[in-house]
Amino acid sequence: MIPVTTFRDRRVALFGLGGSGRATAHALIAGGADVIAWDDAIASVEAADDEDIPTGDLRALEWGAVDALVLAPGVPLTHPKPHWSVELARAAGVEVIGDIELFVRERRTQAPGAPMVAITGTNGKSTTTALIAHLFRFAGREAPIGGNFGPAILSLDPPAPERVHVIECSSYQIDLAPTLDASVGILLNLSPDHLDRHGDMAHYAAVKERLVAGVGTGGTAVVGVDDEWSRAIADRLDVAGRKLVRISVLHRLGDGICRDGDTLLVREGGRTVFTVPLAGIGSLRGAHNAQNAAAAFAAASALGLAPEVIVEGLKSFPGLAHRMEQVRTIGRVLFVNDSKATNADAAERALTSFEDIYWILGGKPKAGGIEPLRPLFGRVRKAYLIGEAAEAFAATLGDAVPFEMCGTLEAAIPAAARDASISVVAHPVVLLSPACASFDQFPNFEVRGDRFRTLVQGLPDA
Ligand code: ADP
Repeated sequence: MIPVTTFRDRRVALFGLGGSGRATAHALIAGGADVIAWDDAIASVEAADDEDIPTGDLRALEWGAVDALVLAPGVPLTHPKPHWSVELARAAGVEVIGDIELFVRERRTQAPGAPMVAITGTNGKSTTTALIAHLFRFAGREAPIGGNFGPAILSLDPPAPERVHVIECSSYQIDLAPTLDASVGILLNLSPDHLDRHGDMAHYAAVKERLVAGVGTGGTAVVGVDDEWSRAIADRLDVAGRKLVRISVLHRLGDGICRDGDTLLVREGGRTVFTVPLAGIGSLRGAHNAQNAAAAFAAASALGLAPEVIVEGLKSFPGLAHRMEQVRTIGRVLFVNDSKATNADAAERALTSFEDIYWILGGKPKAGGIEPLRPLFGRVRKAYLIGEAAEAFAATLGDAVPFEMCGTLEAAIPAAARDASISVVAHPVVLLSPACASFDQFPNFEVRGDRFRTLVQGLPDA
């Protein structure tokens, strides 16, 4: 845990008592703050009571005596409208911040300059976060992961010169961290998402920009320039004279890191100065993962890892569960769990990453269905339909792809395994990439992916 000493003997109101809220409360109390915490859900208040966190309805608070409102990241700061606790704090002129802000203040007072990588973007945050931590650990360094992915940041070990904190930041968390000053800030990409919480794309992009614009003195900003919003942000940083590494998987760059097939090119002044092979790294298949790997390379080298060490480290990245996770090989057949692909856009990345696919899909359908994936149907040898979406998906597949109505994963997996095992192609892949939410048959995509894994592991060897 990181005791938050910057609020010692000061009065802090805290709203939001889920896991990370409670971890934050404990860190504040351990550092000597006078905490009063609350939540709209009575069960969360009771959970806090059980952990001896002082609770009380913040509506009854004497706000004039409060030094800060610490908000859990799930609680609306701006859109669709500020939470009532935010309005009370604002009315009293009290600053509203989150746990990542508490961390960076602690870092500045206790261990200024301690290495910290902050990662944001619409897609690929968790993969990139895990990959960067993996590279540092491969090189023998301590690299705790936290923030939006992994444990609450204040439950980690304290910032220190020899410890690289690798922190995934959602836009909500950036919004609550006005002085976020990572050593390396990464913005992977921007596309419309969560606009319900940010109003419009311009506001969403402006929040994300703060993470890279805030990078501390001597630090490095890493920006993916394959979308126009991120490209504009990179250009502004460049004009401001900031240390910047551009990343692209679509275009050849004069300076930065770009992709050429299965290879990343490190470019300086129009010349390739180093190459990073990605071929054969199963956990980093696809252009989207090349973007993540390029950002990880940039971050690790900015913090002093030798390029040759990074190249070796990339090879042993295990990948994350449910994101094109390689579960098992039986004979020539590879089984891949991409349960996180809850819409067509996400499933597209898996379909483009493999050929000769035995595709298990369906669930609770999303608007638009799988029509956008039609250009990739040629890669699918056969489809196995499950869940509510089965009828509609069967209609879309029509005569273009042979399919079987399976209903459940229990029926789909043996059917796909059987067909793949007798197929004549060299590298058949049984792929669960549902292009649907899981809620018709599972509590969430993790349970769906875990079920896939268990069933695949239970298949006979040959
Ligand atoms: P996040 O943490 O931002 O949700 P993840 O690393 O968990 O991202 O990846 C979630 C899904 O997003 C993956 O299954 C993949 O389909 C897609 N994805 C991963 N990296 C990228 C990227 N760089 N660009 C676009 N999509 C990506």
